[in-house]
Amino acid sequence: LISSESRSTGLHIIHIAAEMAPVAKVGGLGDVVSGLSKALQKKGHLVEVILPKYDCMQNDRIGDMRALDMVLESYFEGRLFKNKVWVGTVEGLPVYFIEPLHPAKYFWRGQFYGEHDDFKRFSYFSRAALELILQAGKKPDIIHCHDWQTAFVAPLYWDLYAPKGLNSARICFTCHNFEYQGTSNASELGSCGLDVQQLNRPDRMQDHSAHDRVNPVKGALVFSNIVTTVSPTYAQEVRSAEGGHGLHTTINSHSKKFVGILNGIDTDAWDPSTDTFLKVQYSVDDLQGKVENKKALREELKLSSADSRQPLVGCITRLVPQKGVHLIRHAIYRTLELGGQFVLLGSSPVDHIQREFEGIANHFQNHPHVRLILKYDEALSHSIYAASDMFVIPSIFEPCGLTQMIAMRFGSVPIVRKTGGLNDSVFDVDDDSIPAQFRNGFTFVNQDEKALSSALDRAYNLYTKNNQKWQQLVQRNMKIDFSWDSSSSQYVQLYSKSVARAKAANRA
Ligand code: ADP
Repeated sequence: LISSESRSTGLHIIHIAAEMAPVAKVGGLGDVVSGLSKALQKKGHLVEVILPKYDCMQNDRIGDMRALDMVLESYFEGRLFKNKVWVGTVEGLPVYFIEPLHPAKYFWRGQFYGEHDDFKRFSYFSRAALELILQAGKKPDIIHCHDWQTAFVAPLYWDLYAPKGLNSARICFTCHNFEYQGTSNASELGSCGLDVQQLNRPDRMQDHSAHDRVNPVKGALVFSNIVTTVSPTYAQEVRSAEGGHGLHTTINSHSKKFVGILNGIDTDAWDPSTDTFLKVQYSVDDLQGKVENKKALREELKLSSADSRQPLVGCITRLVPQKGVHLIRHAIYRTLELGGQFVLLGSSPVDHIQREFEGIANHFQNHPHVRLILKYDEALSHSIYAASDMFVIPSIFEPCGLTQMIAMRFGSVPIVRKTGGLNDSVFDVDDDSIPAQFRNGFTFVNQDEKALSSALDRAYNLYTKNNQKWQQLVQRNMKIDFSWDSSSSQYVQLYSKSVARAKAANRA
């Protein structure tokens, strides 16, 4: 517990989010919410998280879960609905879970997203979360919402909740991926109590594509005090017509409050020296364990273990167009040509991509050097980071990307396309313009197979021809500090500045 004394200088921060690792994780958003929150808490701030109570959560990762002795009534579609509120501890953080007692069973669907009524589900949740803060009498300094699912919080706060007296907070919005904007028919916005007429305007929430559609991410860009995205390069990319997915003009007109901060990774959760998912733990001073993990994974996946030096290339990803699926497919075949082994762990919400990869998986079913595992599997992901020598991430765009950092921490050398956060964290071994101590992987620029091949070939060459240099690279990478320490400090600075500005304005 944080004493009131150490809190006296600290901030009270409440995250409202749709994901939090490890209880409810689809991708990087989940990692960021828990990683950033833990780092902020460590620095002495009071951090709380509000999540939906999904039926498909990992309940075994929640400590001391109990229902609160309160009935939270929240407005939706013209009437009030009751919600049960639960509280528990996740990764040492207090987390509130909202369970709507609504006939549509919004979070009782067996999956986090992808329902026909996602817009309703998350606009409902955004409003209920603010209602919880109000009714619990909390006075946070910062309410931090994430992605389109909780972007509604920003306009709801200023239009409805600040007038109700919940006015202690500044709103911070982080967009983890501008591809997902959650647009919908304008009329749907009214369900959570927002004023459609007022908000469906080009300078507010109206989508660029049509006059009768609203865009929650645009709303958060306009109505938040602080807007961040997850890497400096991506923050630049989204200011162009091509990168902004239609929001570049809004981003540019709110550029003063917009900044890119590179995500960290949760270095406790991703630590080969303590990782209980691994066959053998290992560290930078004892890399024998890495060799044993490679052997174990090969056996588990029934791959050939004839040559312990045969390089193993890993890839762990959602299989969506953003991730460069044609290049991932090419990497499999190119690795085979070079004489390596390839392991892909991925699943796809896109039917034709899932089917295509099922085809490839079947083709290589009993192959000694290629295995595709097409599902989400936390435990297996750890084993692959630990076992692989190289890790490919050929993304078309990548807001931040966490897998390159996790891979490096586990001694797997990243091969990435130079975009977004990959461009801010991976520096080419052969790039003389970069100081030698920062060079940590292999990069390519073009989106074609030739470009990927040339980076993969260079990695393969170094691995096979200069073992000593490769080992040095692996060891240097494992020591890089990818923790949230410095990134969370940047968030604290933004939060503090915004809070101070509000106080100064109130005094004036
Ligand atoms: P995104 O958020 O776009 O999915 P990130 O690189 O930011 O990409 O985060 C991906 C996270 O999800 C990493 O922690 C990665 O290990 C994990 N991950 C992705 N696919 C799988 C999978 N099939 N099984 C297990 N973990 C996965």
